[in-house]
Parts: sequence; C-alpha cells; structure tokens
Amino acid sequence: MTTKNSQELFDKAKNYIPGGVNSPVRAFRAVGGNPLFIKSAKGAYLYDEDGNAFIELINSWGPMILGHANELVEKAVADAIQLGFSYGAPTRREVEMAELITSIVPSVEKVRMVNSGTEATMSAIRVARGYTGRDKIIKFEGCYHGHGDSFLIAAGSGAITFGHPDSPGVTKGVANDTLTAPYNDLAAVQTLVDANQGQIACIILEPVVGNMGLVKPAEGFLEGLRQICDKEGIVLIFDEVMTGFRLAKGGFQERCGVTPDMTTMGKIIGGGMPVGAYGGKKEIMDCVSPAGPVYQAGTLSGNPIAMAAGQAMLTYLNEHPEVYERIETVGNTLTSGIRANMQKLGLNYTLNHVGSMFTLFFTDKPVNNFEDAKSSDTALFGKFFNAMLKRGIYMAPSQYEAMFISTALTDEHVAQILDASYESFQEILA
Ligand SMILES: *Cc1c(COP(=O)(O)O)cnc(C)c1O
Repeated sequence: MTTKNSQELFDKAKNYIPGGVNSPVRAFRAVGGNPLFIKSAKGAYLYDEDGNAFIELINSWGPMILGHANELVEKAVADAIQLGFSYGAPTRREVEMAELITSIVPSVEKVRMVNSGTEATMSAIRVARGYTGRDKIIKFEGCYHGHGDSFLIAAGSGAITFGHPDSPGVTKGVANDTLTAPYNDLAAVQTLVDANQGQIACIILEPVVGNMGLVKPAEGFLEGLRQICDKEGIVLIFDEVMTGFRLAKGGFQERCGVTPDMTTMGKIIGGGMPVGAYGGKKEIMDCVSPAGPVYQAGTLSGNPIAMAAGQAMLTYLNEHPEVYERIETVGNTLTSGIRANMQKLGLNYTLNHVGSMFTLFFTDKPVNNFEDAKSSDTALFGKFFNAMLKRGIYMAPSQYEAMFISTALTDEHVAQILDASYESFQEILA
C-alpha cells in the first residue's frame, strides 16, 4: 500500500496545525504510523489521497449510519444551498426539525439546536445547574462528553489514548465541581451523593459507553441512577451523542426503558454536518434564554444547510425501521464471526457489543468499566489495527473506541472484514 501523498500532506500539516490534525485521535499516534488523508467517501468506502480504498468501520465516528454520501442527504443539501447559507434568523426547517426530534425521542419535550456534541453537553450542564441552583456534577470515569472544561476529568476516548486525562488549562475550581465515579458502580454514586447533599445538579453519562471502547450498563445501573436522581432532585442527563438514532431510532433510552430528564445529541443528527442538540423536560428547557435566565446562543445554530442534512437523515430513519434491523443483523454477524475466528485460534479477547456498535478489547478480562478497559494490551491492538488497515479495513485508530456499522455494509463486505480479521489475528500472533 502506497501512502506517499498522505505522508507528504502530514509532514506539511504538522507545520501549520498542532500535531497535523484538527482532532487528536485522527493522528494515529496510538497505533503507530501516520494518518491517511482522505480524499472522498462513498457508501461503505473511504478513498485516500494515494488512491487506496478502505471498508469503513468508523463512519466519521458514527454519523454516517446510511453510509457515505447518501443520495437523500446529498440532495437535501444541494437544494438548501440554492436558498442561501445562513440568515441568523429563525426558519421553518428548525421548527420541523424540533418537531421531528421531539416525536422520535419522547423524553425530549423541547430542544435547542447547537453546532456540536461538545456544545450540547456544555449547555446541558449549564441548564441543569441553572434549574437546580446547584454547582456540582457527577460523571463517570472513561465517559467522554466532548472537550468542555468540566468534562476533561477522567475523560474517555482521545483523552485516555494520549494519557492526559486531566488536561492542563482546566482550572481547579472547575475540576472541584466535577465528581467522578467508576461506571456501573451505583454504590460509589450513592457515596458521592451522600457526601455532597443538596449540591449535585446533575448526573451525566453515556447510557451505553462508546468512548472507553464499548461498555454496557450493568443490569439495574441505569434504573438505580434514575432512583437516586428522583430522590435527590438531581437532573439525569443521558449523553446520546453517539447512541442517539443509532442503538434505536429513539436512542438507547428507547431500548432500556429508563427515561432521562435531559438528553444530548450529535453525530447522526446532522447527517454529517456539524450539528448537536440538547433537550428534555419542558420545565427544565424553559430555563433557557430567552424563555428563561440561562444563557446559551449560537450565530450558526440551526444553520439552514446543516438542518437540511439532519432533517433528511432523521426523516429517513424515522420512516425506515428496517435500517435498525439491518445494522443489528450485521452487528450480530460480525461479532459472532470475530468470536468464531478467535476461538479457532485459541484467543479469548473480550468483545463487547450492542446493536451496531462493538469493541474488541485485547484483554481476557470482562470489561465493565474504565479500570477493566485499561487492562487491554494497546500495543497488540496497534498491531491488529495496522494488519487490518493493510487488508483494506479502516477501524478506529485507538483501543478505546467503538466501531460503527452502516447500512452500506453488504454481506460481502462483512465476509471480507471477517477474513481480514482471521488473517490479522494470525499475523499478530506470529
Ligand atoms: C462525540 C461525542 C461528544 C462530542 O461531540 P463533538 O461533536 O465531537 O463535539 C460528546 N459526547 C459523546 C458521547 C460523544 O460520543
């Protein structure tokens, strides 16, 4: 595989962009080697600057659930572009989009559009604080909620990959207001709540974690959090930026039956454009300016072109439940195939899987929290990643990430991925 053009671009990029990339995990540092510069994408494939093609398991870290350059979304964007790029004034489409979101996710009675998942979570905790009049928040070790200051305490994803979980630049004051507990540990949450009576505004979590690799909520964990929040007047926030519109049309909350007070959304909601949203109970959302005193704004929020993409995506998903059946089936076939391959080779790595998301952890231990995830052999993961890449399969370049399945994956692609995984296991064992 030639990577000359990517190599040249990366060398140049490093002169002008910190680390050569606009988001850290893209840099491939955790897996060795240099990032591939992507020129285009269509359906199940990414094409790089050297003309290599790769079958996709990242899908832009989740958004491209219908595969790349989906015609419906493409057309919606092309049509919207004719009407101007941004007005800074309300539009019909924003109303339709809000109506659509609230109908798909019933716990969201009112919603505010923003430009990224990070903005959604930052705003949501501000609203929770404004609503409760309390300062502290509880988050879980290994959960990632974007790069807002309050969340860079025991943050997952890129923050783990690079070993600076507590970022410089975050003040002690902010850090003191963020309390952390191990994921799936209700007793630890109860201890924090007891020690900070009447001071905790919200508990925020990924209801299924994608950002320390895929970790499922233990039986009763989400229900237990709901009970604690009800008892203590704490706002329960599900960060469904990754899981929303993916693990079910209405997000993981639809699947697990536990209803949060607020939900944050991103990724799929923009159909590939920069969009995020936060919403929840009317009573809470009516604290947001100009209805209420909690300030939050955005020059490009609800941007007409981004809304056109998001609306086309969500409308399609809303009307096509077979999308979820398909990616669920592919998820089952892929993960059981990888398990079978490991069995043939006498390997016993932990494969966590929910619907169209999965992570292969290079550890024999079950992975139910961040401590468990850290027992993975990241060097071995790096070898596996590169062995797969050589065979034309593009996985997330870090052990602490989930893979995402799109509807563009055919049975033939799945067979190719499974063959590549068998050969890659053999290669890294040799
Ligand atoms: C990706 C992600 C975010 C941040 O979204 P950005 O659009 O990257 O700012 C927040 N929370 C979760 C769960 C995510 O997966």
